[in-house]
Amino acid sequence: MKAISVLGSTGSIGTQTLEIAAEFPGRFKVVALTASRNLDLLIEQIIEHRPEVVALADAELVAVLRQRLQDLNPGQRPGPLPEVLGGSDGLCAAAAWPSADLVVTGIVGCAGLLPTLAAIRAGKDLALANKETLIAAGPVVLPELKTSGSRLLPADSEHSAIFQCLQGTPWADSARLSTGVPTPGLRRIQLTASGGAFRDWPAADLTKATVADATSHPNWTMGRKITVDSATLMNKGLEVIEAHYLFGLDFDAIEIVIHPQSIIHSMVELADSSVLAQLGWPDMKLPILYCLSWPDRLATPWRRLDLTEVGTLSFRAPDRAKYPCMELAYAAGRAGGTMPAVLNAANEQAVALFLDGRIHFLDIPRLIERICERHGADLRADPSLEDVLAVDGWARAAVREAAATATAQLLIA
Ligand code: NDP
Repeated sequence: MKAISVLGSTGSIGTQTLEIAAEFPGRFKVVALTASRNLDLLIEQIIEHRPEVVALADAELVAVLRQRLQDLNPGQRPGPLPEVLGGSDGLCAAAAWPSADLVVTGIVGCAGLLPTLAAIRAGKDLALANKETLIAAGPVVLPELKTSGSRLLPADSEHSAIFQCLQGTPWADSARLSTGVPTPGLRRIQLTASGGAFRDWPAADLTKATVADATSHPNWTMGRKITVDSATLMNKGLEVIEAHYLFGLDFDAIEIVIHPQSIIHSMVELADSSVLAQLGWPDMKLPILYCLSWPDRLATPWRRLDLTEVGTLSFRAPDRAKYPCMELAYAAGRAGGTMPAVLNAANEQAVALFLDGRIHFLDIPRLIERICERHGADLRADPSLEDVLAVDGWARAAVREAAATATAQLLIA
């Protein structure tokens, strides 16, 4: 029985992880849950999964949650009530909970950084969905992994695909994951991208893009932030940086290919020019399950892939002019140091402003570019955790300020 903690249990990754735990009651036991504000769903999860501890990002809600758990009628009570913690320290304590074997990181954004580090420092294996943590703080996270011996298993479908392909090579040794050392024999990674909400829109029509348009993904059902990241293709840019840290390849050897059907989840080219791919329906439960069961595979009754039903698999190069976020991510990754943290924070803040209706869709790359340019002179090549947190805060404030003072020039609509 593997004991798992689910950080961000009320989100898209979190709920799918708990569905898997419910499907395999003899294999996985949930010991810790965390959320931000969604108490109704968290209480349902506590009743069903009976964790030992829960933590809320919003510490002010701790007393409310405790009271609501006390008020449950006897039929609903999950046996002994879980310990309820709050705030950053509470999230970190839940992430490092002693009885857990593996921590699923489903918190959205750089808010996941400190809990992820707490889990690593406690020696837990990680199923990494919260890519923003690795992107912002790769130079901090990688040495911590080495020290603690924690293993970073990729839950992102593309990186899971690469990881799965590498299992069939002589270099499957999991220790090669996330060391930043190039995986021998791995010559090129091709990350597939659905193309997001605006895949079939002419670039000129993006001036009309609304929040509703940007949050309707053609193939995947995900949280709002990553759905917007898919529409800008920033998500793919962030995945390029994630792949660099996980598999140690140079940025020139990590490519993006648009694959509208989302059936091939990514490909690796080996030294002899052979290409391996992993295929499946677009369903995040598969890469999450692989993290939970690795190195085993569990039998599931899930929908099996039928390529005759799919019919056609197509591929094309991404339109770099239509998706400037992709190039911004490559540039930040190549600059290294604190630049990816600035890119990530600027993106998180710009996407939040867009979702609030405060800026236009096309303002997202403009703001990010402006803030990354400003950071150039202050870049720290070998940042500490404090440096990462400082530039993260600076970039968010700089985006808010730029959006507030320059709205007239920025807004297109
Ligand atoms: P969601 O928005 O659906 O869920 C986010 C979770 O994080 C919720 O549990 C939310 O709690 C919690 N949360 C929000 N803000 C904070 C905070 N400040 N501190 C602590 N917890 C917080 O996101 P997704 O599940 O879509 O994405 C989670 C991560 O996984 C992201 O990094 C994303 O890039 C990555 N990912 C997601 C995929 C997907 O299919 N969804 C695919 C690949 C990667 P509450 O509900 O209470 O607000």
